Amino acid sequence: MVPKKIPQELPTYPDFMYICKNKMQMNRHKYMQAAIETARQGIREHAGGPFGTVIVKDGCIIAKAHNCVLRDNDPTAHGEITALRDAGRRLGSHDLKGCELYTTGEPCTMCLCACMWANIDHVYYGCTIADNALIGFRDAQFDEKFGGRGNFKDFLIQLDREKCLALFEEYRQMDDALRY
Ligand SMILES: [Zn+2]
Repeated sequence: MVPKKIPQELPTYPDFMYICKNKMQMNRHKYMQAAIETARQGIREHAGGPFGTVIVKDGCIIAKAHNCVLRDNDPTAHGEITALRDAGRRLGSHDLKGCELYTTGEPCTMCLCACMWANIDHVYYGCTIADNALIGFRDAQFDEKFGGRGNFKDFLIQLDREKCLALFEEYRQMDDALRY
């Protein structure tokens, strides 16, 4: 069921997706789809790589963002970071406990730490660190230096890799896509 009204404690989002909490489990794919669509918008605007993120609280998407490294000339403007900033502003808090984050690519070391600083409950990711390397990104180099992913098995959960791989392929085939 779709609630008629947006609760007053949450600011409205321009194209707010509204999904009931009790359907959260079955809607995880919808949240990832929203992350994919955000990423697709980002690559079409040449804002950055094919990395989109949405943050969900109580079954509602409260923030979404894509990678803006190229558009903003900001090496930290990964999709997860920009979404965390958006969520903090919207919730009026630095503490995102109770939120889940959905992102098209497995978070890099920087973003993984940022999610932990933000107290995100769980991170759902599509493509893996190894997939990121296949389209020209350097996550794996850093990941190796920081000791890999073995300690984060309960925190990082893979979801819808095939759909995210299709997005990555779309990016890979863009002749004018910049790598960094
Ligand atoms: Zn990152």
